Amino acid sequence: MSAEEIHVQGIPASALADRFGTPLFVYDTEILENTFRTLREELPEEIDIFYSLKANPNISVCAFLGTLGACAEVSSYTELLTALRAGIAPSDIIFLGPGKDERELAACVEAGIHAVVCESMAELQLLDELLEGSGGGTFPAMLRVNPAFAAKGSGLSMGGKPRQFGIDEETVRRSKEQLAALQHVEVIGLHAYMGTRILDAADVVHNTRRILATAEDLAGELGIPLHTVDVGGGLGVAYFDGEADPDVAALGTGMRDAVIPFTRRHPGCRVIMELGRYLAARAGTYMVRARYVKQSMGEWFVVADGGTNHHMAAVGIGSFVKRNFPVQHLSRPGGQADRRYSLTGPLCTPNDVVAKKVTLPQVRPGDLLGVERSGAYGPTASPGLFLSHGFPAEVVVHRGEAHLVRERDTPEDLLSRQQLADFSGEGHQ
Ligand SMILES: *Cc1c(COP(=O)(O)O)cnc(C)c1O
Repeated sequence: MSAEEIHVQGIPASALADRFGTPLFVYDTEILENTFRTLREELPEEIDIFYSLKANPNISVCAFLGTLGACAEVSSYTELLTALRAGIAPSDIIFLGPGKDERELAACVEAGIHAVVCESMAELQLLDELLEGSGGGTFPAMLRVNPAFAAKGSGLSMGGKPRQFGIDEETVRRSKEQLAALQHVEVIGLHAYMGTRILDAADVVHNTRRILATAEDLAGELGIPLHTVDVGGGLGVAYFDGEADPDVAALGTGMRDAVIPFTRRHPGCRVIMELGRYLAARAGTYMVRARYVKQSMGEWFVVADGGTNHHMAAVGIGSFVKRNFPVQHLSRPGGQADRRYSLTGPLCTPNDVVAKKVTLPQVRPGDLLGVERSGAYGPTASPGLFLSHGFPAEVVVHRGEAHLVRERDTPEDLLSRQQLADFSGEGHQ
């Protein structure tokens, strides 16, 4: 395989780059499907898998996961529209986020989604007021709880400390009267999200147990039903040396043990796991083309046509030491890897380093490089407008065919949103 370039479902990397240009995100549906199906088989059927669009809001990625049976967790008006247009049933959508506005809440009601996950008592009130004129019936809401305990296993933990998210467990405990006073909102359950990038299945299981116990406890105390409990998720994927992907079989066994006794006590309760990174990350490759290959004070640099403007996550997540996403030489993967390169982009900042001192086969200008496991928190979580480069193209490869699912921004796209103010009276003679 030494001379052969990387293929995606039989399509050579160079063919994708030539047809769609670079920088380019390529999503492989085989990997999306394997990831989803394996997880689905391992998790108990009591758990519904919701895809967190935040990780990758591309409508085709969402639609494909939907065909596999994923529901959707959205956090903005546009994400809600995306999920609906992607064909996710309204009853399989939840909306969460700390700053929902009236338009978003009204859209949830109009669409008839499964539930709004409310993150403050004020939001519950607002939803109740909005429903005032909407004529009969109640609308389902869940309470996002900020648990009194901290998460296990997450570098970016969301519970057990002061947070803008959710309602403190203590506050929820004292909210019985406020909940009883709601006229049009029916609280149908609880939600907690403990953090992201958790690699040890045992930690996810541990968090789940605590969330289910807290939900049971709170529901009993407040006299609310448990129709739905969302246990978050936060399942990670391995990016860096020394990391391993979560053990999905162990996750399945642990979740079975945690969830089945719970659903026996609460028959019909919908248990939700919401996952973004785990479902999307491994399916995506950020493909860039080497423009210049140069040396500075003894170190080699590959300056590529795309950098952290589309892949901010590669700069490093919650770490002071730069750790590298997996990088592949797509044009000559089998070549002898004997030189260390820093992979940088077109931005005029020294921070535009996608990978630092990675060992690769020799890189020449024009070669294609791929940052792997980049299907989550890519372009939409990056400063794509920095230096006015705009968004890269996105391509889905499905059954051996490549489909453009997002056009790259053109200079005209980027300029068309600006207005040139009239300074004609300001001339200096
Ligand atoms: C970001 C987020 C998710 C998705 O997190 P991943 O780690 O990508 O799975 C799910 N739920 C909430 C509340 C989030 O903020």
